[in-house]
Amino acid sequence: MEALLGPDEGPAVEVREGGGPFVVVCEHASNRLPRALCSLGLSPADLERHIAWDLGAADLAERLAAKIDADLLVQRFSRLVVDCNRDPALPDAFCALSEDTVIPGNRDLTPTQKADRVAALFDPFHFAVERLIDDRRAAGRATALLTIHSFTPIYRGVTRPWHVGLISTSERTLPDAMLAALGADRKLVVGDNQPYSAKDNVDYTIRRHGLDRGLPHVMIEIRNDLLADEARREAWADRLTRVLGALDRSVMVA
Ligand SMILES: [Zn+2]
Repeated sequence: MEALLGPDEGPAVEVREGGGPFVVVCEHASNRLPRALCSLGLSPADLERHIAWDLGAADLAERLAAKIDADLLVQRFSRLVVDCNRDPALPDAFCALSEDTVIPGNRDLTPTQKADRVAALFDPFHFAVERLIDDRRAAGRATALLTIHSFTPIYRGVTRPWHVGLISTSERTLPDAMLAALGADRKLVVGDNQPYSAKDNVDYTIRRHGLDRGLPHVMIEIRNDLLADEARREAWADRLTRVLGALDRSVMVA
């Protein structure tokens, strides 16, 4: 079996360590594909679209992590290879149809092909998050998990009104505190479990590394037209920094 990533293509995950209480994770940061997958049969234009990555999310995650001195973990390859925020046992971890776009290279994947993708990209990513949290725990550091995503303004012809949405699990201490803080800005349309929720299977990372480990956690979704340029991404990083900075420390303790 050939390795999915060439020796010059790795690693799957980029890690930067900080000194603060937050761990920032960005699963859909990149539209990069391993050379061996030959663009999955998609055009360069399709690979620039939301189907391949969360537009603006990587830069927002980096800016936010720098401002709050967080640990940052970024997936370096596209969700089209394997979605690091889905259970790999589910078909939607290997998207073959995104809205109306067929992904030819993801049709009829064999169990071995799926396992290769999980081994090359999914496992190293989640093992890195796990190790980092283990190290923080061993050092007795308070830890809360934030994942950073972006969503499209229109989905299947329906306009999405929210500027920001927080996706939560059953443990809502951190998201509830953030919803209250974000809601104080009357101009903001804030979604609670919008435009997705755990029912859409989008809670994999916050469940595995947050809920299941007893750490405060929330998934933050920003509408991608609001992240379209540097100034807007910087403004959102500032806004989230203010919101997180104003939180009562009690929400940081599970
Ligand atoms: Zn995403």
